[in-house]
Amino acid sequence: MCDLWQHTTVKPLPRGHIPHQIKQAIAQLKSRTAEPIRHIKLYNSGSFFDVGAIPLEDYASIAGLLSEFDRVIVECHPKLIGAHTLKFASMLPSKLEIAMGLETASDDILQRLNKRFTLSDYQQACVLLGKHSIDHRAFVMIQPPFVQPNQTQELCLKSVQTAFECGAACVAIIPTRITTGAMETLRQTGDLHPLSLEQVESCFDAALDLKLGRVWLDLWDLEHLQTCLACFERRKNRIETMNATQSILPKTTCTTCQPG
Ligand SMILES: [Zn+2]
Repeated sequence: MCDLWQHTTVKPLPRGHIPHQIKQAIAQLKSRTAEPIRHIKLYNSGSFFDVGAIPLEDYASIAGLLSEFDRVIVECHPKLIGAHTLKFASMLPSKLEIAMGLETASDDILQRLNKRFTLSDYQQACVLLGKHSIDHRAFVMIQPPFVQPNQTQELCLKSVQTAFECGAACVAIIPTRITTGAMETLRQTGDLHPLSLEQVESCFDAALDLKLGRVWLDLWDLEHLQTCLACFERRKNRIETMNATQSILPKTTCTTCQPG
């Protein structure tokens, strides 16, 4: 549902290629900041524990390269959490955290999105991670395809709540983006409703108000939701501050788009 898959490869990479990329990325990161780097996220346009994506033979060298960080976050599909995850965790001196796309707490919609997992699969993955003291965070989509605008907030909140009930350390809520042909087709067939910035703000306010844990609103491509030039930057700044402080700020007012 995000469009990172467009950058993935169709063939497995040769052994050593991924450690080489990680080594280069860490060197680049360090050249850009004098601050100590404590956390690192490795998102691979797929699932980290898909052995077709990250060869098992590379685990030891990847773990070695990451050993200097306090926390290592990798992304994985709930169904691919298992023995490989535990193997990698055992090699890694850092705290491991898995980012999983829960997407939405509705089996019906997960199936229609062809996500190839159920809420029960997600829960099982969380139980296994919890048992082995591996942290996890969740991605939740705001108004995925097949959701009517009047159900958007309720389903978003239900999804955030489900993630926290399953032990998520934090949740990122992500406005559904219409940036690929498949999503555009769903829009044309009426299965995907375009989001408004007001809906997104309202979901974020309500998700923070649940007070279940840290929630962030993903700002990636937020410009797609811009409809009013007069207040967009103020709205975006408000969200950035709320992400950083985890407290709800007064709503943005605008005499241009909300006259009277
Ligand atoms: Zn405005």
